[in-house]
Amino acid sequence: MKCSKCGEEVPADAIYCPRCTGERETSDAEVKLGGVKGGTIGLAIGLAIVTVILNYYDLERGIKAIVLIVPVATFTTGLIIGLVKAKREWK
Ligand SMILES: [Zn+2]
Repeated sequence: MKCSKCGEEVPADAIYCPRCTGERETSDAEVKLGGVKGGTIGLAIGLAIVTVILNYYDLERGIKAIVLIVPVATFTTGLIIGLVKAKREWK
């Protein structure tokens, strides 16, 4: 019997393909790494935006909220994009 995913020859009674199961473990780490990478890039973009905003505006109450929210929002977005991208590459 051949594995439908990787085409590797596996025993007919095998529930899981040993090759795919083995790859899955490393890919799980890769997905996490993708998320960390995406999050880091997102955070860097957020901080860059905040730096630009602070160059134009004084740190007033409304600006303070933006300065706090923007890096969190870009970090989260980057994290999700990184995770999804890594997961897609895995398949
Ligand atoms: Zn396989």
